Amino acid sequence: MKRKKTKKIQVGNVFIGGDSPIVVQSMLKTDPDNFQETLNQTRELKKAGCELVRIALPQEETCKIIPFLKKEVDIPIIGDIHFNHRIALRAMELGIDGIRINPGTINNVRKVQEVANMARDTKTPVRIGMNTGSIEKRVLKKYKRPTADAMVESALYYTGLFEDAGWTELKVSLKASDIYQTVEAYKKFAKQSQYPLHIGITEAGPIFSGAIKSAVGIGILLYEGIGDTVRVSLTGDPVYEVVAAYHILRDMGLRKRGINIISCPTCGRCKTRNLMEIVEAFEKDIIDFDGHLNVAIMGCEVNGPGEAKEADIGIAFGSNKAILFKKGSVVKTGIPKELAKNILKEEIYNTIG
Ligand code: SF4
Repeated sequence: MKRKKTKKIQVGNVFIGGDSPIVVQSMLKTDPDNFQETLNQTRELKKAGCELVRIALPQEETCKIIPFLKKEVDIPIIGDIHFNHRIALRAMELGIDGIRINPGTINNVRKVQEVANMARDTKTPVRIGMNTGSIEKRVLKKYKRPTADAMVESALYYTGLFEDAGWTELKVSLKASDIYQTVEAYKKFAKQSQYPLHIGITEAGPIFSGAIKSAVGIGILLYEGIGDTVRVSLTGDPVYEVVAAYHILRDMGLRKRGINIISCPTCGRCKTRNLMEIVEAFEKDIIDFDGHLNVAIMGCEVNGPGEAKEADIGIAFGSNKAILFKKGSVVKTGIPKELAKNILKEEIYNTIG
């Protein structure tokens, strides 16, 4: 897998594109007029490993949260703006770290030019976020329906508009809820432009099915070398978006955050009847863990000790007791199954230090 070389841009203290690691981002789901709830969720996202946080700014008035958030939490904040370009101008005046605009919803070239001029003057990076659900009317008229080509043409037009204003700190997204259409659009755009790409499958769905759909779409793009920042869109707690993004990046060998759990599916040979609950509870417990380890949890003696030995740390269950392995050696035997999860966690923390 060879990553496509893109222009490197900076959003707050985070680099995107070029040789930078692929950045994980998410979006706040609280009411932006509720400062405390929004701050709490921003902190939760940061703790889960989120590197950029986007906030919806539905009105100019909402922008007053920007200086508050910037004072309280050290993570770049991106304002998500639709329809009213004046919100983008106000957000930039107030020192937002980046903005995302959808030219399709602003739908007025002169207004987008005003945003471009302000972005240049305030040195604010901008994502030009195309979406099949809101392609600008001019392009839609030409293509009749929201195709990948329509998104690409519109994105190239607007990156050109920003270039004419003398501002090139840009990134681009071309999202559809259909995987094939999304992949087609990104591949076509990447052939014609060096701007870093924000990737994701829009409106992917609820946590379980949405994570699978996102993994397929984002996985294909990453395999093609496309993608500089990732957002997994899920109908659920945004912390799961961050967790899912790291899972995808880790499984593709692109980032190394969190615990890689190797666990057997269990079968009739498993003598530990509640192994599924043990694994589920363990996964929840280590959700914020930022070190990287391979941890095996196995249900019986067939593959159990073998897999557990290969992992950094592993536990293999027998009839009533478990064995703990570390780097291939047995470090503890006769562990009662009710203590197994905590002993495993303790060993992880001892290992990482
Ligand atoms: S490790 Fe044992 S319990 Fe788990 S799936 Fe394999 S045979 Fe079944």
